[in-house]
Amino acid sequence: MGLDINKIRQDFPILTKEIYKKPLVYLDNAATTQKPLCVIEKITEGYCNCNANIHRGVHFLSQMATEAHEAARENVRSFINAASAREVIFTRGTTEAINLVASSFGDSQCSEGDEIIISQMEHHSNIVPWQLLQSRKGTTLKVIPFDENGILKVEELEKMITPKTKLVSVTHASNTLATVNPIKEIIRIAHAHDVPVLVDGAQSIPHFSVDVQDLDVDFYVFSGHKVYGPTGIGVLYGKERWLDAIPPYQGGGEMIKKVTFEKTTFNELPFKFEAGTPDYIGSTALSAALDYVKGIGLENISKHEHELLEYARTRMAEIEGMRFIGNSPQRSGLVSFLVGDIHPYDMGSILDKLGIAVRTGHHCAEPVMQAFGIEGTVRASFAMYNTKEEIDTLVAGIERARKMFHH
Ligand code: PMP
Repeated sequence: MGLDINKIRQDFPILTKEIYKKPLVYLDNAATTQKPLCVIEKITEGYCNCNANIHRGVHFLSQMATEAHEAARENVRSFINAASAREVIFTRGTTEAINLVASSFGDSQCSEGDEIIISQMEHHSNIVPWQLLQSRKGTTLKVIPFDENGILKVEELEKMITPKTKLVSVTHASNTLATVNPIKEIIRIAHAHDVPVLVDGAQSIPHFSVDVQDLDVDFYVFSGHKVYGPTGIGVLYGKERWLDAIPPYQGGGEMIKKVTFEKTTFNELPFKFEAGTPDYIGSTALSAALDYVKGIGLENISKHEHELLEYARTRMAEIEGMRFIGNSPQRSGLVSFLVGDIHPYDMGSILDKLGIAVRTGHHCAEPVMQAFGIEGTVRASFAMYNTKEEIDTLVAGIERARKMFHH
């Protein structure tokens, strides 16, 4: 059964907004998704009914807030099928989660000359933390290349791993090329050499179901705001044995067992990695977002987004001068493109005046742009609430821009 998109759209207040007196066509979902009312209400409800600092309070509200936060953790656990809620660490988002691993794992497990392997299609947040590690520890960075279609050359990985390789850190789905990588195979190859794997799930969690135990992944990270949740909250999943083995990331309240001026002992998992007051309103709102996604069904979402994607690519291919950046057959719901020699910013600005929100530029993946010898792309990215009519509006907008620039 198909999704009732009109009904879904009613759950997202912002979608009725007009931009320059035109209906909003929001196609920037890879950057952030819009929020359903249940998430917005959860935030209000949290502050109206359930606001008190968590974990240390004996009073009623504090206990209520603590229970809500821990229930949210359990909900995340079940969403990604982690073995234990102790393996679910709340962070500010994907970026902070990767930085946590780069610091805690990197500083404790890596020495000079050790290697971290990433891929050529990583977001800057899965490049720069490893370069910072490089400047602290003298590690080196190796990069799995992709081909002209944006498909990762996974066969290279086997040859790249050496006894000095400490971690493979790759994205599940590319935010620029749409490529969905064969993560299970990558993990299998790395594990055959006893190398753990971190997977950046920022662009996968909103689109298809992820089972961390089935993947046998060591670290998996994602952001709440890309899966219909609030900004400022995200998740680091880590296998318990890894999280136990590596030191805390930040020091402060919550993460300690006992503090004296001579010595401090650390709290157990997951609190060891959650220094300071956690975003307990954010975690409960994220939990509401995951419930919402579960209610619609990730399979239904995935099917709908794929239909949109194929429709968009078919219609857009008819546009003169259309060039798609990224042609992997395994792809998620976004399309990166250029039209003739029209600069992405010009295209984006014209579309904006028509009420169409797309993203333009390098999408925080400059090495991808370098590989294609381009400055940037225009990116339209889809969510469960997008429609074919919106894609028609996009196609008409692109045509209009093309005519303005070429005739
Ligand atoms: N990785 C990928 C693949 C992404 O698309 C993004 C967001 N564009 C990030 C990491 C960073 O996410 P955040 O800014 O929410 O930390």
